Amino acid sequence: MSNLLIYNSLSRTTQKFEPINPPYVGMYVCGPTVYGPAHLGHARPAVTFDLIFRYLRYLGYKVRYVRNITDVGHLEHDADEGDDKIAKKAKLENLEPMEVVQTYTEDYHKNMRLLNCLPPSIEPHASGHIIEQQQLIDKILANGYAYESNGSVYFDIKKYAEKYRYGKLSGRNVEDLLEKTRTLDGQDEKRNQCDFALWKKASPAHIMHWPSKWSEGFPGWHLECTAMSTKYLGEFFDIHGGGMDLQFPHHECEIAQAVGAMGHDSVKYWVHNNMITINGKKMGKSLGNAMTLEQFFAGQHELLEQPYTPMTVRFFILQAHYRSTLDFSNEALQASEKGLEKLLSAVKSLDSLSAGKSSSFSVSELKEKCFDALNDDFNTPVMISYLFEGVKHINLIKDGKEGLTEADLNDLKKLYHDLCFEILGLKDETAKSDNSEVIGNLVDMIQQLRKTAKADKNYALSDKLRDDLNRAGVKIKDTKDGYEWSL
Ligand code: ZN
Repeated sequence: MSNLLIYNSLSRTTQKFEPINPPYVGMYVCGPTVYGPAHLGHARPAVTFDLIFRYLRYLGYKVRYVRNITDVGHLEHDADEGDDKIAKKAKLENLEPMEVVQTYTEDYHKNMRLLNCLPPSIEPHASGHIIEQQQLIDKILANGYAYESNGSVYFDIKKYAEKYRYGKLSGRNVEDLLEKTRTLDGQDEKRNQCDFALWKKASPAHIMHWPSKWSEGFPGWHLECTAMSTKYLGEFFDIHGGGMDLQFPHHECEIAQAVGAMGHDSVKYWVHNNMITINGKKMGKSLGNAMTLEQFFAGQHELLEQPYTPMTVRFFILQAHYRSTLDFSNEALQASEKGLEKLLSAVKSLDSLSAGKSSSFSVSELKEKCFDALNDDFNTPVMISYLFEGVKHINLIKDGKEGLTEADLNDLKKLYHDLCFEILGLKDETAKSDNSEVIGNLVDMIQQLRKTAKADKNYALSDKLRDDLNRAGVKIKDTKDGYEWSL
């Protein structure tokens, strides 16, 4: 179906992409923990896996893209100790935890729409899969890779390491991890410090808990992804993605849980995007450079010289390979802003070009180079550089210095539309005038209905339509010879 090569973080090699059950592709990506507004760190994995989703679909695969919402069990320290992030926020703001979840899930969705990320096929919540997580714990316990301790259940790394390699994804050495065991004073519930929680008994102050045979408690963070990925994609599926920061412990633990429960890993290709830095520094709350996407789009942060539109951010992310680090600086973002403008205005002028005498510019060669780049582990920066090469020719054609036959010109138009809009997922943010034209047509339509209603002396309906328009944000003023409208 394709010549796609994909880098597998587990084998650390680039492999030919061969889905387990073509044309179907199962892709699971770790989603956000929804305890605060969507921030810049959310943008990169979202755009990266949106590109992969779009490209696989473009290639003709039927992709089931599952991205979870973490709304329980993600604790503050090492993901496994301390307060639950959502419960803490709920307590602080005197909200029901699910209000926190609802608020920030919607915030996340709004920002994803702005970034033009397609919604996943399934977006399961951890809190909606407590039973599946408990069933998974039962299996791991039955296989002897977990133990119960004081109402909690922990994964037994030492036992697991006797048969399997814990640490194979992140490259950690299990002996080093187990070394830390000696620092335990015997009071700890865990046999080894590196053992991780599958189920935690809730303390009386803990507000999110469910009944289980072990205790009134809640699942460990790592468990949800194993439970939900295998529920929706099966025991074997193609792609598991996430940010590189999730490799350890989160994804390492996911592998251990899958093997511990089913006797085998479920994932064929592990794919990780690299991290974002800001002016060369790691992003973090303590460093004062963490910013929400809303701040970013509004230019409301002391580090920002101006606002950057969602498409500038998207294009900027795609101008780096997903496995490279990406440094956000005003200078680099402004360069991307200009580049995007240049690219999209070339696409616009391309649409109005007409055919002429052909010259040496080869559309099929350009097409091949672009798709070769994409097939080389989604190499968008190289692909985009070819798009800019093509822009030079588009401008020459516009100036009458080069020409293309009708067929070649149509191919070129299709190529730019496919690559820019369908695959890279860019959109023209300045195209507001088209929108107002559509809105105008709709308002005309509704006004016609009002006219008919009035002619029938159905004034109630006519007024209702006007009020409904008002509520939808369209203000109507009836005038002597018609009407006026405004947004
Ligand atoms: Zn996950």
